[in-house]
Amino acid sequence: MRLRNIKGSREVIAANEWVIHDETACKGQWKKHFGSDAPIYIEIGTGKGQFIMELARRNPDKNFIGIEKYSSVLLRALEKRQYYEGNNLYFIRMDAEYIEDVFAKDEVAGIYLNFSDPWPKERHAKRRLTSRQYWNRYGHILKPDGRVAFKTDNRDLFTFSLEEVGAAGWRLEHVSFDLHQSHFCENNIMTEYEERFSKEGHPIHYMTAYNVSRPLPGDI
Ligand code: SAM
Repeated sequence: MRLRNIKGSREVIAANEWVIHDETACKGQWKKHFGSDAPIYIEIGTGKGQFIMELARRNPDKNFIGIEKYSSVLLRALEKRQYYEGNNLYFIRMDAEYIEDVFAKDEVAGIYLNFSDPWPKERHAKRRLTSRQYWNRYGHILKPDGRVAFKTDNRDLFTFSLEEVGAAGWRLEHVSFDLHQSHFCENNIMTEYEERFSKEGHPIHYMTAYNVSRPLPGDI
């Protein structure tokens, strides 16, 4: 994603009612925050927010949090958020590396990773959101029946991710190298990147995975 430092974006975010500003204080308290027992799903690297907003709209009985590292990008999601009337969608501006400071064990019902940054240099592999380091983090916050769903057009990142699932002690559930031609596409919600890359003719790769040490039927 091309990043521009948009002047004043931090101030706009600080004043926005749909952004959680004290996210570490919410750890273990998210149900209280939402005022409901509904399961909580997160998208990491939410970008301009199209995916999670549509997911929230289609699932009013579930709660959602979009996590984005950069203020200038989150700003775009918040511009869209003002036209959504539901109260089941919040955002956090943070680096997902610290996700365990924000969610307690079993607090998250499912995790979505869409078109995550590839970090092509080998020395940056740990930064990829599908590296074994991240699978371990997800394992600490996800419910036993929780799933991680990942979409990308980047074949190298996808291959790496398939390998890392096993290396982290997780198991693949669904895999497709061409999501849009597969039956997994039935309820698919397009992200901004997905729209762009599929228009350019790139096949979209898709996987879901669960933690082998805690296998229960899942619902992502
Ligand atoms: N998911 C959106 C989509 O599919 O259209 C955006 C994809 S964009 C390539 C990746 C997004 O992930 C960027 O907005 C980036 O700032 C965010 N991101 C990358 N690393 C992150 C991290 N460690 N924590 C939170 N967000 C991150």
